Amino acid sequence: MSNRYDGKVVIITGAGSGLGQSAALLLAKEGAKLSLVDLNNDSLEATKDLILKETPHADVLLITADVADEEAVKNYVDGTVKTFGQIDAFYNNAGVEGKQAPLAEYDSEVFNKVTDININGVFYGMKYVLPVMKEQGYGSILNVASVGGIRAVLNQAAYVASKHAVAGLTKTAAIDYGQYGISINAIAPGVILTAMVEGSFKQIGGDNWEQAMADFVSVNPKKRFGKPEEVSKVVSFLLSGEAEFVNGQVIAIDGGQSSQY
Ligand code: NAD
Repeated sequence: MSNRYDGKVVIITGAGSGLGQSAALLLAKEGAKLSLVDLNNDSLEATKDLILKETPHADVLLITADVADEEAVKNYVDGTVKTFGQIDAFYNNAGVEGKQAPLAEYDSEVFNKVTDININGVFYGMKYVLPVMKEQGYGSILNVASVGGIRAVLNQAAYVASKHAVAGLTKTAAIDYGQYGISINAIAPGVILTAMVEGSFKQIGGDNWEQAMADFVSVNPKKRFGKPEEVSKVVSFLLSGEAEFVNGQVIAIDGGQSSQY
């Protein structure tokens, strides 16, 4: 296992589950001091337990916060700096999917909630982390978009709109802050098997959700779902500082599905 994160401080939002938890486990093994943020305190504690099982000496700070609440975002950034003194990397990952429905039937309240978390959460995170990194003269930020930030996805108006916005925020921030030694990119995962994705197939497929999953994956060039650990390895590289000249990119991790006609 590499020590590429020795002495480095990383904030991960949405660290209680799925992609955020998987990255937390890997980065702890690679030496990172972690500031883990999630809405759900119990799942944060569960992530910490898993980390300590694999990496007993890991330095882990847990902060319960809603990423759509600007004051709470300011607090998790301030709390991280107060505890660890710096922020080397920021995995701006927390997000929700919302409901599945054709646009005219899409519930406006759900639309506002999804865009609030997925767009404002990403915006606030960068808004408060960037001044810290600018002052340091270095830092890496990775926002989590989706293939839904590159292409359309049936019945997912709010999710697709919000993830396109994440791609736009990423590119804009990257050209604003590249000159200060900061690199800002986004990943666009395809279907990676996490709790969020399983929930989505239960919505689409009802009792036949397992068949719906099999049908969906049959058109992927790799004929399978991605695994959270496969995403985390890319995340680790992009946030490590070793990829400093990669800036303003939206990098698909989807088995090639978004390249397929
Ligand atoms: P997940 O549901 O397993 O985990 C998301 C975590 O974010 C949960 O722990 C949840 O409590 C937390 N969270 C939700 N709303 C929050 C809020 N307002 N404030 C703080 N924390 C909040 O989902 P996941 O699959 O790990 O997804 C993580 C990110 O990856 C999301 O942005 C999602 O859109 C994106 N993504 C996932 C996939 C996939 O296939 N899993 C594909 C593309 C993009």
